[in-house]
Amino acid sequence: MRVEADRARCVASGQCVMTAPEVFDQSEEDGKVVVLDATPAPPVRGRARQAAAMCPGAAISVPQEPAEPLEPADPFEPAEPLVPAEPQKPADR
Ligand code: SF4
Repeated sequence: MRVEADRARCVASGQCVMTAPEVFDQSEEDGKVVVLDATPAPPVRGRARQAAAMCPGAAISVPQEPAEPLEPADPFEPAEPLVPAEPQKPADR
């Protein structure tokens, strides 16, 4: 996960800096976004995501974290035995 900002799309509104100042700053020269921390920790990452959602230039991208890798199945472990389903009784009338 890397926070990225497209300076060509940035309109220098500064909302990202107000929302996640640990992650974003604005250039002294043109006021456009500067990414301070491209790999923020989870609590800050949420605010970076919020800043991306609020950005009027749609200049910020905060990709989703990849899912945890699945444990490979143990080929030597026996599969769970299938239990036959109980037969359904007809409803009393
Ligand atoms: S909120 Fe978007 S448009 Fe505004 S400064 Fe940040 S990146 Fe640029």
